Amino acid sequence: MTSNNHYDVIIIGTGAGGGTLAYKLAPSGKKILLLERGDYVPREKDNWSTRAVNLEGKYNTKEAWRDADGKELHPHTNYYVGGNTKFYGAALFRLRKEDFGEIRHHGGLSPAWPISYDELEPYYTEAEHLYDVHGNRGEDPTEPWASAPYKYPAVSHEQRIQHLHDDLERAGLKPFHVPLGIRINEHNARKSLCIRCNTCDGHPCLIGAKSDAQTICVDPALEHENVSLVTNAKVIRLETNGNAREVSKVIVERKGAREEYSGDIVVVSCGAVNSAALLLRSANDSHPNGLANGSGVVGRHYMGHINSVLMALSKCPNPTIFQKTLAINDFYFGSKEWDFPMGHISFVGKLDADTLKAGAPAIAPGWSLDLMAKHSLDFWLTSEDLPDPENRVTVDRDGQIRVSYKLNNVEGHDRLKAQLQKALKQTNCDVHGHECHQGLFARNLYLGRRLPLAAVAHQNGTVRFGDDPKTSALDRNCKAHEVDNLYLVDASFFPSSGAVNPALTIMANALRVGDHLLERMR
Ligand SMILES: Cc1cc2nc3c(=O)[nH]c(=O)nc-3n(C[C@H](O)[C@H](O)[C@H](O)COP(=O)(O)OP(=O)(O)OC[C@H]3O[C@@H](n4cnc5c(N)ncnc54)[C@H](O)[C@@H]3O)c2cc1C
Ligand code: SF4
Repeated sequence: MTSNNHYDVIIIGTGAGGGTLAYKLAPSGKKILLLERGDYVPREKDNWSTRAVNLEGKYNTKEAWRDADGKELHPHTNYYVGGNTKFYGAALFRLRKEDFGEIRHHGGLSPAWPISYDELEPYYTEAEHLYDVHGNRGEDPTEPWASAPYKYPAVSHEQRIQHLHDDLERAGLKPFHVPLGIRINEHNARKSLCIRCNTCDGHPCLIGAKSDAQTICVDPALEHENVSLVTNAKVIRLETNGNAREVSKVIVERKGAREEYSGDIVVVSCGAVNSAALLLRSANDSHPNGLANGSGVVGRHYMGHINSVLMALSKCPNPTIFQKTLAINDFYFGSKEWDFPMGHISFVGKLDADTLKAGAPAIAPGWSLDLMAKHSLDFWLTSEDLPDPENRVTVDRDGQIRVSYKLNNVEGHDRLKAQLQKALKQTNCDVHGHECHQGLFARNLYLGRRLPLAAVAHQNGTVRFGDDPKTSALDRNCKAHEVDNLYLVDASFFPSSGAVNPALTIMANALRVGDHLLERMR
């Protein structure tokens, strides 16, 4: 190893966590290295092809993992500069203030975080401003307090969604505009980076208008000469020094060869599954159960949210182009009849016939796939799954990742679907009246079917932070309790996951940890 391979900070993974941290640390002048197993997403027309993206899975990793029974699964995850934010829907929500405390669910307890909402709040504001989030404060009935307004107004509803909004309001609900990280200027189309297209959620943005971690953080960080990036660099192992309290070597596999790097500080941010796997693969005599895993929690408490995609078919068509603008949180903490949390209702990007073909061989009676796609409102329902130590990531002898997961806390999710069904029955149109709504169909047409285990988009919780080293692997600054120079800033630190999309919380936390690191390095 030459001294050229030594850095002040090494960050492994360039997604929501790693990319944001790099941005925060870049102006410090410290010598920073980003190691990313993927390459840049190629810029090509297929970026916006639903067939290439959804049907052929062109950009998904081809890696196979195993489930608890040893059956292979193909995770819907993406290894690129910017991580999964290159493909995300850019719905950038804060967790609710209450999510940081203990919450009783029908299925058990959602544990408290070691930090409060108030501690993370300044960083939520910083992350919203950094990622150019467009939103309106004061509309979401469960939103926590905020120290500043959004920088930009919310993205407007198209006509069909505005109609739905008005119907839902008449039914007594409080639908609101989704906070979105897309760089749109609705007042001056010629100055707008974003063209409001129908291939945002799940697709990379061909014109760089989505606020993803590469565009917003990694690219600007690399403008600092003290920051460098090595792509196609898969970290396979971390080694510790003599007293086992420091990571001394970062071992990389790159283009079939082995490389070694070292850093005063090493930050792992590979996504919740891969980060846990990396620590487990880094077991040694002093850390026999995996690096920093004296507590035994590394890999455990895997969460991924309980998610369903539900198509509400109506007689009226839905010509919406950008659909992901409306959400409902009225049932987030429960309802008058049900005293437990149910979750969050929002939208996926508009489904088309090609997307429906992926996982939807059957069609609703009397409808073609094309007709269904033209008439559906495509909802995305999220409920909280609870951290069960037996839901865990392990690494098999042959090095393959295994995710063992048993769904829990489903009653609230089923009730959330029933609430949506009830609300939609009350909707109305000038032509068909209350007969317009034709029913709710799961994307693969089995009502009630949830997304399979391969849907790991919201993976989190596998290397939880906490004040007690017996029950957590990381301290409140996301530093490993047992290793003095090791940090984690991806979604693995979550002790519980709430029921809103996770990315903004990961970004805000990375900014928070960034402040801690700047202080430490000073
Ligand atoms: C289709 C889709 C839509 C989504 N929509 C939303 C949304 O609207 N709102 C929201 O909040 N969230 C959304 N998400 C989830 C969001 O993208 C993730 O929560 C977020 O990106 C996770 O951040 P992370 O830093 O934990 O991991 P990632 O962003 O996944 O980053 C991990 C990085 O580590 C790299 N890596 C992995 N292993 C190694 C290794 N061994 N060596 C080197 N590098 C490695 C990966 O290539 C990747 O770049 C969506 C996700 C998907 C897939
Ligand atoms: S142009 Fe706008 S709507 Fe289309 S992918 Fe890019 S950010 Fe998303």
